[in-house]
Amino acid sequence: MPEAASYRKVDLHTHSTRSDGRLSPTELVDLAVEQNVSLFALTDHDTLDGIEEASQRASEYGLSFVNGIELSTQWNGIPLHMVALHFERDNSALLSIVAKNQAIRLDRARRIADLLVRQGLPDLFDEAVALAGESQLGRPHFATLLVEKGLVKDSNKAFDRYLGNKRLGQLRDVWPELEDVLTDLSGENVELILAHPKRYPLTVTKLKRLLSDFKKWGGTGIEIASGNERPDSVRLLERLSQEFGLKASVGSDYHGPFGPWMQVGKFTQIQESKVDLVWQNWA
Ligand code: AMP
Ligand code: MN
Ligand code: MN
Ligand code: MN
Repeated sequence: MPEAASYRKVDLHTHSTRSDGRLSPTELVDLAVEQNVSLFALTDHDTLDGIEEASQRASEYGLSFVNGIELSTQWNGIPLHMVALHFERDNSALLSIVAKNQAIRLDRARRIADLLVRQGLPDLFDEAVALAGESQLGRPHFATLLVEKGLVKDSNKAFDRYLGNKRLGQLRDVWPELEDVLTDLSGENVELILAHPKRYPLTVTKLKRLLSDFKKWGGTGIEIASGNERPDSVRLLERLSQEFGLKASVGSDYHGPFGPWMQVGKFTQIQESKVDLVWQNWA
């Protein structure tokens, strides 16, 4: 494998139909190649299901493929996403967290459906399960159903009105504690990356507290760029990455062709020389 510096384009955060993305793992890899990505990870929410297919396709092109997943966790009652990268697919600690999160997803969907019923909406549970099929059951399925039934104008409205974290306040404590997930996975040869740190309702002071916990519990990195992030946010995250001794990761968080900015391999420019890149020593 070439030296890290020779990767022209890196994307370590993407979604396929196995979670809530639009493209199949194969289609996603095809798009990555078309976009000249040379180091790629599939990081579906709480599932490894797409990895075999994606890595197979990547190997047909000679694209460097990294195993990945985006795990749902919580910290102080705030839902947080963590990207795990560069692990062996049979890692039993990881597989047990994945199984647990999938069970939580089913239970949570039942509770989401109940909350919607209480607001006068129809019981969407069975349809959400059917719609999810092989993908990871979650709020996007409820959003799709609400749009399909003409109950809201679009998916954003569905989240604003019914499905956002504030709206689902009663469902705060569903995910495993960040501390437990990190502790279970640290020392397992897995890169443990805090996903999109600027997308949580946290002041900089609170974010620093989170990063301090994250590091203490075994986290190894943070995403300094995630899709269409403001350049000043990326500068801040570059600094925090150095301050807390957390490696720098990047990704598009691509879910599908949802806007001019959404593309595999596309995210706000980073200053590579100012940080320690998570992929620097991958072989
Ligand atoms: P879940 O995994 O069930 O909590 O669903 C979260 C997913 O919903 C995220 O990964 C996003 O892809 C999507 N999402 C979150 N907020 C919004 C929003 N405001 N509008 C549309 N999709 C959203
Ligand atoms: Mn998603
Ligand atoms: Mn996320
Ligand atoms: Mn994501």
